[in-house]
Amino acid sequence: MPDRPISELFSRLRPLRSFEFFPPKDDAGTEMLCATAAMLRPLAPDFVSVTYGAGGTTRDRTARTCELLRRDFGFTVMPHLTCVGHTPAELAELADRIHAGGFRNIMALRGDPPRGQTTYVPRPDGLGHASDLVALLKARQPDLCLGVAGYPEKHPAAPSPEADVANLRRKVDAGAAFVTTQLFFDNAVYHRFVERCRAAGITVPVLPGLMPLLSRRQIQSFAAMCGTALPAPLQARLEAAGEDPEAVEAIGVDWAREQIRDLIVHGAPGIHLYILNRSKAALALADDMAG
Ligand SMILES: Cc1cc2nc3c(=O)[nH]c(=O)nc-3n(C[C@H](O)[C@H](O)[C@H](O)COP(=O)(O)OP(=O)(O)OC[C@H]3O[C@@H](n4cnc5c(N)ncnc54)[C@H](O)[C@@H]3O)c2cc1C
Repeated sequence: MPDRPISELFSRLRPLRSFEFFPPKDDAGTEMLCATAAMLRPLAPDFVSVTYGAGGTTRDRTARTCELLRRDFGFTVMPHLTCVGHTPAELAELADRIHAGGFRNIMALRGDPPRGQTTYVPRPDGLGHASDLVALLKARQPDLCLGVAGYPEKHPAAPSPEADVANLRRKVDAGAAFVTTQLFFDNAVYHRFVERCRAAGITVPVLPGLMPLLSRRQIQSFAAMCGTALPAPLQARLEAAGEDPEAVEAIGVDWAREQIRDLIVHGAPGIHLYILNRSKAALALADDMAG
């Protein structure tokens, strides 16, 4: 049986719950992923997603991980797919393969520039923007339900929040059914982002993406990579925790819990959790995610 389109799940009365995995590199990573999937299965997540490595480097591993999560755990799985490094013909073939595997949802992304490059330059015959990929996938397999990325704190390369939302509108106009956001720690930026989207005529659901903090190093690298701001009260709590890793992790879960409760009270359509293939925070937050 093919998967249900995620767009249909948004019409339910309860908030949607989803988790993001990355494709493991080796057997130990696969074991960890399977252990996490087994722990999360009783929660019956609405869907899980699997990232596509920078520059298409995980093409086969992403496909294998998606198949494993679908076949062995019964999840509705949304593979991610990026434009980087692929010709349109390759992307069309990948769309056919994904569709033939029973998947009906894809997260359509441009992808980041390859390591060592700061700006994204498409290959001469490649696609320049995620909106081009949305259009290609929709033309090739019209019944695919497509998610796209949104940036509450603006994509780092966008000249302004308004320009970024205008580009998001292009993705929706090309056929995207919902938006999943980049991680954020300050709910006010999500609420303002949704307002900007609505003002720009974007009416599809905007699913907030959250990541419970795991370590100080991780905070710094994400803040630098995604331009995500750490609110002062969160910074103060982290400073008080010092170098104690367990205390940092507990603060991460508590902060995410407060975010989730506020988001759901204010009508967010669900919560997408970036879990980095670990179950602990997801299990701790599952009840709050259920609303
Ligand atoms: C939920 C989520 C999941 C992700 N998963 C992955 C993953 O699995 N693998 C991976 O490699 N990366 C992933 N990323 C990161 C993503 O690939 C990068 O943020 C990338 O830099 C932009 O991808 P995009 O799809 O948002 O691109 P786009 O929507 O193409 O936007 C990229 C930039 O171009 C601008 N832009 C868009 N269209 C136009 C236009 N027509 N004219 C001018 N400017 C335009 C935008 O404003 C933005 O600044 C994910 C990000 C998010 C938020």
